[in-house]
Amino acid sequence: MANIQWYPGHMNKAKNQLEDNLDLIDVLIEVLDARLPVSSRNPMIGQLTKKKPHIVILNKSDLADPIQTKLWTKYFQKEGSFVMSMDAQHNTNMTALFKLIKLAAKEKTEKLEQKGASNPVIRVALAGIPNCGKSTIINRLVGRNAAIVGDKPGVTKGQSWLKTKTNVQILDTPGILWPKFSDQTVGYKLAACGAIKEDIFHADDVALFAINFLKENYTKDLEKFARLNIDQINDLSDPDLLLEMTQNYGMRDDYERFSKFMLLRLRKGRIGRITFDLR
Ligand code: GDP
Repeated sequence: MANIQWYPGHMNKAKNQLEDNLDLIDVLIEVLDARLPVSSRNPMIGQLTKKKPHIVILNKSDLADPIQTKLWTKYFQKEGSFVMSMDAQHNTNMTALFKLIKLAAKEKTEKLEQKGASNPVIRVALAGIPNCGKSTIINRLVGRNAAIVGDKPGVTKGQSWLKTKTNVQILDTPGILWPKFSDQTVGYKLAACGAIKEDIFHADDVALFAINFLKENYTKDLEKFARLNIDQINDLSDPDLLLEMTQNYGMRDDYERFSKFMLLRLRKGRIGRITFDLR
């Protein structure tokens, strides 16, 4: 953990920019990694979301535990947010998200419509930690309407809006938030999911963390992947499990190589649909 650098200057700049942008938008869309609804959330977001209607997207839901995603959806609903889970990688149909954006902006649009406006523009911005899928979602929303609306007078210099096939327009640069990184466990969870650069941790440390987490919470998935039976899993210490698995995959004692391989499989969802922040 000692060598983690989050560049506080950049962090603050990003937050300030997002705050400035809040004045320009009607709805803030916070993109979270469905496997990490807490760890991928920036604690500062709470200060921002009070000011605007707020949608939480639990993205990468194809990789997350569906039961957990349901529980988290309820949790965020209770918090007063609009929520939806999404697999932006494989699902191109954004109808449900467009509907939710309209619902979130209803108060504003109704006011404008009462004043005679028809189909007023709804402006949204996305925010989230790196790699949570912001660009993918923006591309899905924009579809073929990749035309940029262009700088508008009175709008922060350099800000452009992307058109969609509806009256929704999207700020072209998503807000980048930083994960909270409150403790080592959060760091390991982010690393296990590939949400932070691998070189921050040794792969074998992350693999050991993942083995321990799977052993506790997703035993069946571990059993299958490890090519070991439940007794072996229960009897062996985590480092011994790692070595045993390394051998089972024909990598002799090269546990570093196996650790990297395991993390790749884990991140692709090949070990199972796993949520690391359990509700
Ligand atoms: P950004 O940094 O937040 O803009 O994230 P990107 O949109 O660049 O996505 C990061 C990576 O996650 C890319 O490789 C995407 O293809 C992938 N990705 C995005 N959304 C999903 C999803 O719902 N499921 C899966 N499995 N992968 C996704």
